[in-house]
Amino acid sequence: MEKHLIFLGAPGSGKGTQAKLMVSECGYNHLSTGDLLRAEVAKQSPLGLKAKAIMESGALVNDELVLELLKKNCELDKHNYLFDGFPRNISQAKSLEEVVLKGHNALAVYFHIDLNLLKERLVNRRACGQCGTIYNLLFSPPKVAGVCDNCGGKDLKHRDDDKEEAVVNRLKVFESTITPVLSYYEAKGVLRRVDASKKVHEVFGEVKKSLEK
Ligand code: AMP
Repeated sequence: MEKHLIFLGAPGSGKGTQAKLMVSECGYNHLSTGDLLRAEVAKQSPLGLKAKAIMESGALVNDELVLELLKKNCELDKHNYLFDGFPRNISQAKSLEEVVLKGHNALAVYFHIDLNLLKERLVNRRACGQCGTIYNLLFSPPKVAGVCDNCGGKDLKHRDDDKEEAVVNRLKVFESTITPVLSYYEAKGVLRRVDASKKVHEVFGEVKKSLEK
């Protein structure tokens, strides 16, 4: 399998869930810029304080800030990384290539799904505050309402940016920035596409198959 992976997809396309499966089965280090930013917000670091309101609105945080955060958190020679949530636009795609990967090989996987399906997925998404397991109140709710199946935690969180207004904005941002990113990886011959509307394990099967090509 390729050394590094880049997961591309709309918010709610399931790429975070697929990234977790890939990490546990194939040993990649998961680098989610959304998770890194949320950790900065929780720490109330200077970067976190700058990013908080932007994230809550569903807009993108400044490219330079996110790039710095990413660089600080990866050692390309030591680990195989799975980049999740970066790049979000063509400028980030070029920075990833020139400033982070610097000649290391990477394959990009695009989780394709009709954007009209995603609003409902996102506004009903909850994540366990203890172990991070993701639920959807409509399609995959916990067995006991409000309690995590995996760890028994009783703190199922609704992200601020999964509330309706921010969701609409995030989907708009995605739609307006993704096309040149896909063309960029397509032109390099490293783009793989999977159908993200299928069930989780089916999508995972497709991802693994697409990486063998
Ligand atoms: P995510 O968890 O990937 O949906 O990211 C949550 C939010 O963090 C996004 O809506 C952005 O505000 C911010 N964010 C995450 N990754 C990036 C990135 N690569 N560039 C800019 N902002 C980002």
